[in-house]
Amino acid sequence: MPQRSPKADPRRMTVRVVGTVQGVGFRPFVYRLATGLGLAGSVRNAGSGVEIEVQGEPDVLDRFVARVRRDAPPLARIRQLTARDAAPVAEDGFRIEMTDDDGALEVDAARDVATCDDCLAEIRDPADRRYRHPFINCTNCGPRYTIIERLPYDRPDTSMRAFPMCDACRAEYEDPADRRFHAQPVCCHDCGPTLELLDAEGQHVAGPDPLAATADILAEGGIAAIKGIGGFHLACDATSPDAVRRLRCRKHREQKPLAVLARDLDAARAIATVGPEEQALLESPERPIVLLPRRAGGIVADAVAPRSQFHGVMLPYTPIHHLLAERLPYLVMTSGNRTEEPIARTNDDAVSKLAGIADAFLVHDRAILTRNDDSVVRRLAGDVVVVRRSRGYAPEPIAVGADVDGILACGPMLKNTVAVGRGELCYLSQHIGDLSNPATVRSLESTAAKLAGMVGVEPRLVACDRHPDYLSTRFAESLGLPLVRVPHHHAHVAACMGEHELTGKVIGVAFDGTGYGDDGHTWGSEVLIADRAGSERFAHLAYLPMPGGDAAVRHPGRMALGALFPLLGPDARRAVPWMDEAEADAVLELLDRGVNTPLTCGMGRLFDAAAAVLGVSREATYEGQPAIELEGIADLTAKGGYPIELSESGGVRQIDGAAILAAVCEDRDAGVPVPTIAGRFHSTVLGLLLQCVTEAVRHTGLDRVCLTGGCFQNAFLLERSVARLEAEGLSVFRHRLVPPNDGGVALGQMVIAAAKRRR
Ligand code: ZN
Ligand code: ZN
Ligand code: FE
Repeated sequence: MPQRSPKADPRRMTVRVVGTVQGVGFRPFVYRLATGLGLAGSVRNAGSGVEIEVQGEPDVLDRFVARVRRDAPPLARIRQLTARDAAPVAEDGFRIEMTDDDGALEVDAARDVATCDDCLAEIRDPADRRYRHPFINCTNCGPRYTIIERLPYDRPDTSMRAFPMCDACRAEYEDPADRRFHAQPVCCHDCGPTLELLDAEGQHVAGPDPLAATADILAEGGIAAIKGIGGFHLACDATSPDAVRRLRCRKHREQKPLAVLARDLDAARAIATVGPEEQALLESPERPIVLLPRRAGGIVADAVAPRSQFHGVMLPYTPIHHLLAERLPYLVMTSGNRTEEPIARTNDDAVSKLAGIADAFLVHDRAILTRNDDSVVRRLAGDVVVVRRSRGYAPEPIAVGADVDGILACGPMLKNTVAVGRGELCYLSQHIGDLSNPATVRSLESTAAKLAGMVGVEPRLVACDRHPDYLSTRFAESLGLPLVRVPHHHAHVAACMGEHELTGKVIGVAFDGTGYGDDGHTWGSEVLIADRAGSERFAHLAYLPMPGGDAAVRHPGRMALGALFPLLGPDARRAVPWMDEAEADAVLELLDRGVNTPLTCGMGRLFDAAAAVLGVSREATYEGQPAIELEGIADLTAKGGYPIELSESGGVRQIDGAAILAAVCEDRDAGVPVPTIAGRFHSTVLGLLLQCVTEAVRHTGLDRVCLTGGCFQNAFLLERSVARLEAEGLSVFRHRLVPPNDGGVALGQMVIAAAKRRR
């Protein structure tokens, strides 16, 4: 310990740091900082923070406090730092004091974190004892949420309990100066989990290096199921068209773009345009899939993202990824599940569920206790849009500006997430997925139970969607607790209000595909006057018949017929000349007899119909495909637009979507280029949004607008509406912490339930 002869009288301070500072290597950081500066004292966990006693020369103490703030470990989030003077005592050296809170890890810090640079350097260093160790981690990186059974965070309560530490690892774990001090998943070649290769039947494949053998299989065009952080991936060589086609065919995934794991930033740049903000997202400890504009002629097979202007790219975030990427610069990495099912979590699960898809399985014996899919983000209109909030982000809480303690929100039907409230914080779960079968509902149940347990909250009030048949609603009802049933689009608006901590009344624009409306029809083009407790409908698209119900979503040509039938009768057929005669006849008959034709005003359906009329999309093989493809081909600089016909009845304005589609048909028949028409269509949707909001401002005097719903993943719509509304002097709020799509709805449900409870 360097001792200094004090020139001035020593000064002593008590420094309290509150925030996400436990379980993130904060005490070792303080220890190293203090000893480096020759200060005496101690540091310990205390309550929801860390308490530091520190003594030394006054100017050195000031430097110490400044550097605690400035150089805190990457995963720490300091919410508050207070320093007060204390009476100096005779003390030498600096130590970390053990307390009862030592296993504490605030759930805020329980996110799974990508392999850090220090660990990466070790894994590449032949002299290091963890050279090429596929499970290397430290206090600053590695799995957490997915291996934790319960809090506090202690090895016996994680799936690392099966691996007793060797002496060398234990020494690091117990050494306050070591960067693995109290890193619960710490391990090495001698004591850690081991990799194993299984063949297509799940039988053990003998060999010295399962990882190299997997790389061989991938390099030869095979498909490997690879155990990751929050579940299995299905991987193949992204540069091999045959391998990618085989994967698509076996997984029955027709056209939806597949995510690409690029070896490093240079590899990502070779296939996509990476701006500075995108680079920051790619390299962030959360390591999401980032949607990037695709480069023409990249080395990656076209089948990875057919008909798409984008690549979903991520950089390696586990040691296994890094080691595989040495051999293969581009891997397709898609969720290891069959369509509609949750991602495979256990080795047995993977072998049984992915049989017939994977040629081999790279597994290991560290259990994944919680599923956690890859997150998906994008830069839009100068900020981040979270498309799927999961690994790396969940379960970090979101402050919502209201007491939400004890509320469990069960989320919607599609892109389900659930949320648990503690104090004024909403703990939004990882992505659970579409609740279309019992397996996903079980996943919802276990996620809700685990999250509530980790947060330490016993739910007292439950919020759910107003739709009576949603499986999330049924789950909510089964709990036998007081229940608040929340309208879908009010929840969207409240989610936006919640994440911006807004209270009072706002104008909410909720544009999406589907949501249960108060009148029993499907809503989805809602301009609402809303506060946290209630909402009033101000404007929406006029209802259109949806022949065959959900079949019209999968077959947008049917939606086009449905939309135009009330206007044109059987003549609507000319809107979709490409459609099979017999199919068109059957659809027109449904419409004529009014059988199985529920009514919708979903904005997504108008995009579907327009994409069908223009022949851009004849089939939706995944949610939102026609709208995405229509935006993709649109000439967004095109001049002109289509008439917006607004009528009013009972104080609610309705916009005639059919008239817009008829104008699209006319342009097409007049030989206007399809990209121009698509551009004009986009301008028209923007125009109707602006017109409705302007009207609402005039009517109510409100000046705050919340933009929400899946349609605000459309770059044109989001960018232009933000710019135009702000130019009108309005305050515009958009999602940046939770998805604008249904992945954020649970947060809105919680906010509304809290407001109703208070009244
Ligand atoms: Zn690390
Ligand atoms: Zn070890
Ligand atoms: Fe929605």
